Amino acid sequence: MSVRVRFAPSPTGLLHVGALRTVVFDDLFARKHGGQNILRIEDTDRTRYNPDSESEFVETLAWAGIEFDEGPHVGGPHAPYRQSERKEAGIYTPWVEQLLATGHAYRAFETPDELTEMREYQQINKLPTGYFGGKWRDATPEEVETAAAEGKPSVIRLRIPRDKTLVMDDVIRGRIEWDSNTIDDPVLIKADGMPTYHFAAMVDDHLMEITHVLRGEEWISSAPKHVALFDAFGWKPPIFVHCPVIVGADGKKLSKRHGATRVLDYAAQGFMPGPLKNFIALIGWSPGDDREVMAEDELVQAFALEGLQPSPGRFDFEKLKWINGHVIRSMSPEELLAAIQTLSQLAHAKIYHFAEVPEDEGGAAEQTKRMARWASLERLLEYAESDRAYVLQCIELERERVTTLVDFGEACEFFLVEEPVADPKAVEKWMSQEHVPGLLMTLRDRLGGQEELTVQECEAAVRAYAAANGFEKLGPVVHPTRVALTGKTVGPGLFELMAVLGPQRLYKRFSRWIG
Ligand code: GLU
Repeated sequence: MSVRVRFAPSPTGLLHVGALRTVVFDDLFARKHGGQNILRIEDTDRTRYNPDSESEFVETLAWAGIEFDEGPHVGGPHAPYRQSERKEAGIYTPWVEQLLATGHAYRAFETPDELTEMREYQQINKLPTGYFGGKWRDATPEEVETAAAEGKPSVIRLRIPRDKTLVMDDVIRGRIEWDSNTIDDPVLIKADGMPTYHFAAMVDDHLMEITHVLRGEEWISSAPKHVALFDAFGWKPPIFVHCPVIVGADGKKLSKRHGATRVLDYAAQGFMPGPLKNFIALIGWSPGDDREVMAEDELVQAFALEGLQPSPGRFDFEKLKWINGHVIRSMSPEELLAAIQTLSQLAHAKIYHFAEVPEDEGGAAEQTKRMARWASLERLLEYAESDRAYVLQCIELERERVTTLVDFGEACEFFLVEEPVADPKAVEKWMSQEHVPGLLMTLRDRLGGQEELTVQECEAAVRAYAAANGFEKLGPVVHPTRVALTGKTVGPGLFELMAVLGPQRLYKRFSRWIG
């Protein structure tokens, strides 16, 4: 039987990195086995429904390059793929009727007040909370009929069997057992006729012939209810794979405190989908050796459920930065420029929302910084329209030094402005030295009038000055030259950047300091 997995998010908000990891695992597993990956939108909880959420999912998954074989946007043999539409199509009705007819489900007519009272009683008396019976689990058919005839609202609950062991063979955790007496009777159909997640998800997993359910371990506590549902129907359950929780550097569950958790925020910071997926796949999974940077095909080849670990996976931001930088260095300047262009197009399409940076992420000050970084990147793209070859050379030099695509804006800025802003500390340290005007004049006169410059010519000129003026060490020659040209004391190799700047820019930039 071919592998069929599903990613089944509830459209309640943004797409977070934890969910991305699940769908990356789904994707790798399906591709490895030539199976299908299905997108199913679990939107039956209308109180938590967020109308913008589905488009956030679609945009994020498109950005990440995750493609589905079936889903609301691609169709497929099990359409519709939104549970609210499946409900409208009557897909769940025969199944709940079957459970009612076989006694595996029953109607319960408690009012919300009665349920609250029950919960309070359980809490005060330190009893397990939940619906373990109440009046309706054991009501007679006549009592049920009378209540229904009176028009009392009701829900339909699953009758969890008593005195049984519920068992799940989880791929990562092995056999998990629950005493059925500790599991309360979950609602399957709400008073408004909507199926709950428990019911709709399991019925759909069966109908859609899902072979493996990969999901976060926070669903383990719901798993006995799912086992009981499959038992009630007499269906063979899919294979469950509860993936370990993701924690931050401090070992606590990943949350906003650790930085961005929304996937598109990583896009907006200039992380690329390939490295992000590579990084995310290695949280809680290992290829069995110490490989860290892996191309997509390599990940597909290596992916196996056996490599999943039960212990929490750590979200190591430094590692993400390292992988992203590593991949940047493996790309050509043309590819990098294209990637920056795509990023900017997505920003213009308002895929990223910079409107406000929450206080816990740095607030207004951080927002100003981010906007400035983006403005630099936009200037780079504008410049590329008039002098693409020059911008490609700048990218090539800075490629060695950046971590993210967004970094290219500020990193290349000094190449692109008329007069780079000089760092006052650098000026104080290097530019007041007596030899500096003479040095810059010599270099200007030797290099500034040429047609073109090579790296070797630039190096020769600097060395010749040093030799002629008795500088044994190059520092006092190299640093003022760099500050004059870039405004900074750090950057790409001096001779390389001189050659890229070219004779005319050298001439102008040296002249500023000669007075
Ligand atoms: N709809 C659930 C969610 O929002 C999916 C849980 C599952 O995969 O079974 O995460």
